[in-house]
Amino acid sequence: MERIAMTTPLVEMDGDEMTRIIWQMIKDELLLPFVDLKTEYFDLGLRNREETHDQVTHDSAEATRRLGVAVKCATITPNAARVEEYGLSQMWKSPNGTIRAALDGTVFRAPIMVRGIEPYVRTWKRPITLARHAYGDVYRNVELRVPGPGKVELVHTDADGTETRALVHEFAGPGIAQGIHNLDASITSFARASFNYALDTHQDVWFSSKDTISKTYDHRFKDIFQEVFEAEYAERFEKAGLTYFYTLIDDAVARVIRSDGGFIWACKNYDGDVMSDMVSTAFGSLAMMTSVLVSPDGVFEYEAAHGTVQRHYYRHLAGEPTSTNSVATIFAWSGALRKRGEMDGLDELVAFADALEAATIETIEAGEMTGDLAAITTIENPCKLGTLEFIQAVAGRLRARIEA
Ligand code: NAP
Ligand code: MG
Repeated sequence: MERIAMTTPLVEMDGDEMTRIIWQMIKDELLLPFVDLKTEYFDLGLRNREETHDQVTHDSAEATRRLGVAVKCATITPNAARVEEYGLSQMWKSPNGTIRAALDGTVFRAPIMVRGIEPYVRTWKRPITLARHAYGDVYRNVELRVPGPGKVELVHTDADGTETRALVHEFAGPGIAQGIHNLDASITSFARASFNYALDTHQDVWFSSKDTISKTYDHRFKDIFQEVFEAEYAERFEKAGLTYFYTLIDDAVARVIRSDGGFIWACKNYDGDVMSDMVSTAFGSLAMMTSVLVSPDGVFEYEAAHGTVQRHYYRHLAGEPTSTNSVATIFAWSGALRKRGEMDGLDELVAFADALEAATIETIEAGEMTGDLAAITTIENPCKLGTLEFIQAVAGRLRARIEA
């Protein structure tokens, strides 16, 4: 069989632990037999990040800027235990944080829906995509333990020394205080990324914040979204039959639960962090959640939303059988290949990505799945497969589709 040709390489970011094992299996069983895969390979595994003093992460982000599409394996974010386990010279920063900062991106997370894995919320019929702003607010905060009576103020000093002050609180006793910030430029990028992704995937956009209480801070988000929408997107949305809708976060939460899905919910950084865990769990499984980082200038980085599945990796190392779900990592590859195909006008590559996703879903819907899904499926007598067995079951169906 002739393999599908590519023109521009994908940026391939390899990673750690069980997902690194899965990465190789996916390439061997699902990609290389069918596609003449072209990638620029970066090993973001923790050992190589240590060896290169994390230069490899920066290089991979630079390559992504240059080539436009990346696919990333889950990676370890070092903590004290990992510093010891891997003998690290430093507690290297989260690769995802580094890549996000380099691309100024917004993270979109969407569940992969299959028959037999039912959302806990009965009304949800279509996926809900969560768009999380990935800059600022409480993630870049400055905190103060207030030792005793006194004033806490916010002070802005401009270039010629003029001060603008706001009293936070006149403390009569000890307490706590916190300063947070965001940037018009970053909020504008967030709004554009959300609207672009909506046009790209043909979905409405909801944006929510707490502007009734936060009359300057959250209100600025609301105003920027509205201004960007009216100036740059209103016409295109109208033509596509799509809508943009702002509502208070309290109202949004209630409407999301009552909805049947099928829209993009744009959230501020903290709201997005918390709500994406809730939404993904409510859709059935973290292992079925895809994640794509989109920069305002149209650069895409695809990955699974879950981590490196450390506990399964240690079982794998001990020679025990594993049943780790590879679906989100398969969809990271199919997402990246489809986008590459669209950008380069390669219909065959786009069709391959579609076939790969269809074969994966078909496998699960036929009752063949990994242990995490077998435990929650509504399909009777599911067949629980090992990590490699599941990927091979998908490969069989993929081959049948392609040869048909
Ligand atoms: P995790 O890797 O997502 O795994 C947590 C648990 O969720 C697993 O132990 C497993 O439960 C279940 N699970 C997650 N993905 C699964 C899959 N594909 N198939 C089957 N079960 C799955 O999170 P973690 O253990 O907290 O983190 C491990 C490492 O991943 C950490 O070093 C962290 O820094 C890193 N991490 C990376 C990313 C990223 O690169 N995007 C994201 C999150 C975490 P059972 O053990 O009960 O089967
Ligand atoms: Mg979270």
